[in-house]
Amino acid sequence: MGGTALKRVLIGLACGALLALPFLGTWLRHAPSDHCALDGAAIVPCYGVRIEDAAGRRLDFCCIKCAEMWLERQSTPVRSIRVTDESTGVELDVEKAFFVRSLVVTMPTTGNRIHVFRDRADAEHHAEKCRGTILNGNERPFAISTLPSRDVEIRAGSVSDGARFRTVANAFGS
Ligand SMILES: [Zn+2]
Repeated sequence: MGGTALKRVLIGLACGALLALPFLGTWLRHAPSDHCALDGAAIVPCYGVRIEDAAGRRLDFCCIKCAEMWLERQSTPVRSIRVTDESTGVELDVEKAFFVRSLVVTMPTTGNRIHVFRDRADAEHHAEKCRGTILNGNERPFAISTLPSRDVEIRAGSVSDGARFRTVANAFGS
């Protein structure tokens, strides 16, 4: 009698475990990793970078440098890049962040000296305190990868310049 009940419990547990497996897989894929996807270094939460690739996989990195190095090897554009405000630990979209390059290294293994802030005041304060500069335009990390249309615009610009040059040359030639 007791043996049958135990059997039922065991069968129930086994079925439950089997049913839970796909959910466990999903949870593991989406759970934040505490190790860098590039070099395996432990991630300090206030310096983490998270990238969602074209397939929807989330990858966590220990610093800006690792995330940039990983991005350089990708042939397809990623869905999103999220960085962390080091003052509050809040995650934010890369476009909204202020970046400061200063003397303070965030990650000894990569030598990353780029700091991320959500508020301009915090960025300016860090720059002042640690002899840093706020990065603008193409100096910003991921500047190229977050502007997919830039390359096309430049090419379109040079094409029209070329056409103008030819027109001028023709005018002089004739
Ligand atoms: Zn790393």
